[in-house]
Amino acid sequence: MIQELAGMLFVDGVWRRGEGAQIPVENPATGEVLGHVASATGPEIDAAVSAARKAFGSWSRLAPVERSKALHRLGEAVAAHADAMARTMTLEQGKPLNEARGEVLKLAEACHFYAEEAVRIHGEIVPNTTTDIDSLVVREPIGVVGAITPWNYPAELIGWKLCGALAAGCTIVIKPAELTPFTALAIARMAEEAGIPAGVVNVVTGPGSKVGQALVEHSGVDKIAFTGSSAVGLRIQQSCPTIKRLSLELGGNCPLIVTASADIDAAVKGAARRSFRNMGQICIAINRIYVQHTVADDFTARLGRAADQLVIGNGIDLPDADVGAMASAEPLAKTQDHLADALSKGARLVAGGGAPQGEVFARGHFFRPTVVADCTHAMKVMTEETFGPLVGVMAYDGLDEAIELANDTPYGLASYLYARDMDEVRHVSTRLDYGNVAVNNVDAGIMNAPYGGRKQSGVGYEHGREGMLEYMNFKHVRIRYGEPKAR
Ligand code: NDP
Repeated sequence: MIQELAGMLFVDGVWRRGEGAQIPVENPATGEVLGHVASATGPEIDAAVSAARKAFGSWSRLAPVERSKALHRLGEAVAAHADAMARTMTLEQGKPLNEARGEVLKLAEACHFYAEEAVRIHGEIVPNTTTDIDSLVVREPIGVVGAITPWNYPAELIGWKLCGALAAGCTIVIKPAELTPFTALAIARMAEEAGIPAGVVNVVTGPGSKVGQALVEHSGVDKIAFTGSSAVGLRIQQSCPTIKRLSLELGGNCPLIVTASADIDAAVKGAARRSFRNMGQICIAINRIYVQHTVADDFTARLGRAADQLVIGNGIDLPDADVGAMASAEPLAKTQDHLADALSKGARLVAGGGAPQGEVFARGHFFRPTVVADCTHAMKVMTEETFGPLVGVMAYDGLDEAIELANDTPYGLASYLYARDMDEVRHVSTRLDYGNVAVNNVDAGIMNAPYGGRKQSGVGYEHGREGMLEYMNFKHVRIRYGEPKAR
């Protein structure tokens, strides 16, 4: 798949060889160059936006049931090519093949979910002060969407934007991360196979500072749907030259609270899964854990053992490994920096702490899942997003102290609690200042509930019906009726 997509852009339903500089894409597990992608030029970006604008007229006026059928066909195409798409993703991103396949199938699920939502775009009739007037509240698609996505979930994070936008009647220009462009181009191939009309879906590749920024500044783009770091999200917000709709799904620094009433086995399993899945490169990864002091030693020792037991591998050769390579040298360096900072300030290493040994790991970006205990808020591991396989543990005495520590962050994406005492569950879940709170489980986001952050974690929602409404304007049509001429 990579060979046929290399160097190509998908604009107005046509594959065209990009005329800009060619950027190498590496396999993070081996360091090999997989292929090159084009850095889209100004005229190519203009062509993609014009194509999306042209297609918007007919796509937005298509009967919702037809958009729904198109999205179902897209879901079917994605599922039919799940193996090839997963292989592409593992090669460029590093996650194990089975996990990549699961992500591709979740993209298919998003297509079917929003296919169903497309036919449920309701309006409202709002009461007025007199009965001869109807106020209709009508929902209309915003227009052309520029979607800018990161590398950690190369299929799903495009899917939520693509499917919500298309269901609403918008058209889209996608700019994927430079590290993982081939999955995005593969999605365009699926859109083509599903018979989605030319111009409705376009993909342009290249560096964010150039190609992404060009979409942000483009007068033909009505909305930017962005997932990525808070720093780039803020830059996008500040650099829009005209008023645009924005949804920004940004960074996190997600806490887990474990009380003495918790099922410790379940808490350990949940913590190991949500701290280390995808090598911790998840915006909703558990970064820091607060454990009631009477159970802290037991919990920490068990979490250390669980981390040590995770199987690390090259995701192609070991499809069912628990974790694969990190996506690039950058998050690995940040993980090492946060670990060194914690250890220099008195943290205790409980598990991991370095690269795994062996020839298979020699050239890739590998790191062992790492747990540090006796942490404080003077350490970066507790206060900054690591975006790597490192988690800090700190003991607490009173529950309100734990809540205060958990909320002591500029971020507000996801938070977690393990407790069996229902009074604790209510007290903590109502006080956590986060868009998502998962209690006695670690799946903070599901397809049919809104998912979004607060504070520096962003604005807007993906998933659920709200994820489609992000692509719609409300129009108020106020109609005064007279008496019919003949009665
Ligand atoms: P970045 O913010 O660096 O990049 C995200 C995307 O933005 C990439 O496509 C990038 O392009 C592009 N970009 C970079 N600079 C600009 C710019 N000036 N204008 C427009 N686009 C630009 O994030 P990462 O890719 O490093 O992803 C990791 C971050 O994403 C983490 O902080 C994580 O928490 C967050 N994230 C949030 C999620 C959420 O739902 N809230 C989910 C997943 C991740 P390129 O890389 O090609 O240069």
